[in-house]
Amino acid sequence: MELRLETKLMQSLTPNYEFDDVTKIDEKIFFNKELIIFDIDNTLFYPETTEIKDNIKEWFLKINKKYRCICFSNSFTIEKRSKEIIQKLDCELFLSRHKKPSKKLFNEILEKYNVVADKIIIIGDLRITDIFFGNRCGAITILVKPFGKESRKIRFFRFLENLIIKLI
Ligand SMILES: [Mg+2]
Repeated sequence: MELRLETKLMQSLTPNYEFDDVTKIDEKIFFNKELIIFDIDNTLFYPETTEIKDNIKEWFLKINKKYRCICFSNSFTIEKRSKEIIQKLDCELFLSRHKKPSKKLFNEILEKYNVVADKIIIIGDLRITDIFFGNRCGAITILVKPFGKESRKIRFFRFLENLIIKLI
């Protein structure tokens, strides 16, 4: 019983794919998918800012032309930053009262974009929000490495992630 729980927990935090950053993602993964959901902080932008690296922006603009992409963030400052982020990415920013890894949030997305779970890709840098969110809802998950300074709350999440992975 205990072992099964551990295996389940580990599986729910393990992405389908891992890359150093979004620009390294093998584009074959995107073929035949209907929606790509990007996390914002430390996936596309420096955390809690509207600053994005040139190579990431360039890559994103190219991908956004070829595939249906949206962005979503759990950050409390996202509404304040949204206009500038949308401008820089030329991409829709999904806003909701729910946060990752909520299934209610996922259902809202399914309904709005009229897609099925296994045609959705979720890309993010945090296992306990982005990856858990995608895995529990049946989407395809991609983990990227963070690159910017993080808030205390996110550092705590990351500490928890590492702890869980070490303990299992
Ligand atoms: Mg993030």
